[in-house]
Amino acid sequence: MPFNRPHATGAEFACIQDAINRGQLSGNGEYTKRCQRWLEQKTGAHKALLTHSCTGALEMAALLADVGPGDEIIMPSYTFVSTANAFVLRGAKPVFVDVQADTLNIDPNLVEAAVTPRTKAICPVHYAGVGADMPPLMDIAHRHGLTVIEDAAQGAMAARYGRPLGTQGALGALSFHETKNIIAGEGGALLINDPRLAERAEILWEKGTNRGAFFRGEIDKYTWVDVGSSFLPGELTAAFLWAQLQHADAITDERLRIWRLYWDRLATLAEAGLVQRPTVPDDAKHNAHMFYVLVESLSKRSRVIRGLKEAGFHAVFHYVPLHASPAGQRFGRTFGELRVTESLSERLIRLPLWFGIEDSVIDQIADQLHCALTGGGSTAA
Ligand SMILES: *Cc1c(COP(=O)(O)O)cnc(C)c1O
Repeated sequence: MPFNRPHATGAEFACIQDAINRGQLSGNGEYTKRCQRWLEQKTGAHKALLTHSCTGALEMAALLADVGPGDEIIMPSYTFVSTANAFVLRGAKPVFVDVQADTLNIDPNLVEAAVTPRTKAICPVHYAGVGADMPPLMDIAHRHGLTVIEDAAQGAMAARYGRPLGTQGALGALSFHETKNIIAGEGGALLINDPRLAERAEILWEKGTNRGAFFRGEIDKYTWVDVGSSFLPGELTAAFLWAQLQHADAITDERLRIWRLYWDRLATLAEAGLVQRPTVPDDAKHNAHMFYVLVESLSKRSRVIRGLKEAGFHAVFHYVPLHASPAGQRFGRTFGELRVTESLSERLIRLPLWFGIEDSVIDQIADQLHCALTGGGSTAA
């Protein structure tokens, strides 16, 4: 039983066929525009640009925020490498701060003290599709003149305080990688919430040219006007994504149903203090991106994962904290001690969760956890 199985809605082939019939396979065609409009309407972002990945969207964000050598970017260490790499590529230094023990998101109480004259931006990550605590982060950014770039890779279809994830900072980055909820194989989007960045965003996205304005008939020739790169996905990717977006609510509802099954089946273990289930604040609308548990120790985690593997279930852990990785030590620095990060990264287990996983599998996985942590018996849920 794999950890993840990419879900196809069934509508993808027809959309891809239609994209082929339309005769444009390169980027920024009909399907790209449809997806972007959908994202703008759904999230309220000023502008959305599809990218080949969330990694690409973060790299665009670093360019748009004028991040350069010597700049410092405050971020959690408990995240995927792209959060840091996007800024390291510009010569900037990630400054890693600890996360909150409940949501595993960046701790706003630590962020202000981590600000220095070199700080350029704050990059919160919305872990597991549960929104980070944005109001205090926005306040700190405002007072110190910092750009907020949201890594909302895991946050499609989720919101906090009634605001879709990725729409509060100046920029937000989404992922449609096959391991996320809504997928395109490889894919992403940059949400541009600060209208002042919109024109330049389109130029960077179009390899540093004003091709977008040219095709809208706003100028009579197109030329090289700024730095840029190829951040666009092709139309086949956009067509696949379009099919997924049409089913975004159904996908999210089904994932939430499975998530709640895990929640219920693991209640006994949680009440016995043997696992900690995810914390979702009351004001957060999460998207069931993942179901994880925290166990007491590294050795218990190894025991649980081994037990699941022997029973045929693939559970995984992540992340090696960035500050403890070879590249993180070379390119970044820590602010204070990262006790929560170090502890949780040894104790977290991600359980299989995908559209179409059978309820009986969730029961069996819960039973396995029960066996591994109590030495026998059933969850008797
Ligand atoms: C998946 C992920 C990314 C990278 O997304 P890609 O689309 O694969 O580039 C970045 N940050 C976080 C937190 C992620 O989970």
